[in-house]
Amino acid sequence: MLKLQNISKQFDQKIVLENINLEINTGEIVSLLGPSGSGKTTLLNIILGLTKMDEGKIIFNGRDVSNVPMKDREFNIVFQDYALFPHLNAYENIVYGLRNKKGMDSEKELQEYIDFLELKPHLTKKIGELSGGQKQRVALARTLVTKPKILLLDEPLSALDGVIKESIKQRIQSIAKEYKLTTIIVTHDPEEALTLSDKVLIINRGNISQFGTSREIINQPSNDFVKDFILKQL
Ligand code: ATP
Repeated sequence: MLKLQNISKQFDQKIVLENINLEINTGEIVSLLGPSGSGKTTLLNIILGLTKMDEGKIIFNGRDVSNVPMKDREFNIVFQDYALFPHLNAYENIVYGLRNKKGMDSEKELQEYIDFLELKPHLTKKIGELSGGQKQRVALARTLVTKPKILLLDEPLSALDGVIKESIKQRIQSIAKEYKLTTIIVTHDPEEALTLSDKVLIINRGNISQFGTSREIINQPSNDFVKDFILKQL
């Protein structure tokens, strides 16, 4: 279980996150949903260990990891722009994820992830030769081979359209299920959050507006922001 306790953050004296409390069960997919500037990415980066919080604690499986550096936290992220290396091919990008991390125990295991993400036919292709969905799968594989204890995804579907979007969505759900991998996703799209995740955390101006299952949010929106801003976009 991941517990966030009283997390607060300011940038230049502007409050970006205020007293965030949250509990995420192992294997759950949780979306962080809110408008631009609401603090979603800041919260994701604090969990990752990339951004330092001003106050609060992060407890992972009973251990306080608040001061554990990013590389030792064993969480990993797929950034919004994938951050793949164009001069390397797909395979080289995937194994780059292993350069200074504990990860695969064997080549066999690496191949399993490659097969799971159906990347075999694309391994020798340069990044520029891949479609958006294929790039996303390479980025996912590069992160998964490090065997993260928590998978963080920043707007994983925003650059994709239609059928590809749907297939990556299903892929994320099957990764979480197959590997019992806690997955935290940043999105600004209510439809995406409500259909993709087990639970949704709605953030408005650095505060939790509502946290619950899609059904709870749709049937019992807890305030006007959820009703008028989030649900009206569906
Ligand atoms: P978006 O959907 O547009 O990415 P977001 O909900 O992810 O928005 P954040 O990126 O977390 O929001 O930003 C929250 C607020 O913090 C914004 O006002 C942003 O300008 C500010 N902010 C974020 N990072 C920094 C930084 N490194 N320095 C100063 N201000 C920052």
